[in-house]
Amino acid sequence: MVDRQEAERRKALRRAAEARQRASREAALPLPKKTLWALFDHLEDALADGCDHSLRFTRQFLASRGIEPDRVLPWLEEHGGYCDCEVLANVEEHWERP
Ligand SMILES: [Zn+2]
Repeated sequence: MVDRQEAERRKALRRAAEARQRASREAALPLPKKTLWALFDHLEDALADGCDHSLRFTRQFLASRGIEPDRVLPWLEEHGGYCDCEVLANVEEHWERP
């Protein structure tokens, strides 16, 4: 039986570990989170007519903001975003708005 103090201590440790994990995931982001969300919004609109299975709209968005695609596309692919609809399907879920 774990006493209350020990349970609290473990909870605090777990919270600290989660915060560290979150921080390191965010540090690995190639874009500020707000820009990422703007990208998802852009893709949601752009994909109303369907995806042609390229990163056309993602590239368009990056170009419109003067962001180097080479900095961002490998990261998206690492997370399963090989085309515009996959960016929405596979990447957005990890970066849900609060
Ligand atoms: Zn697609």
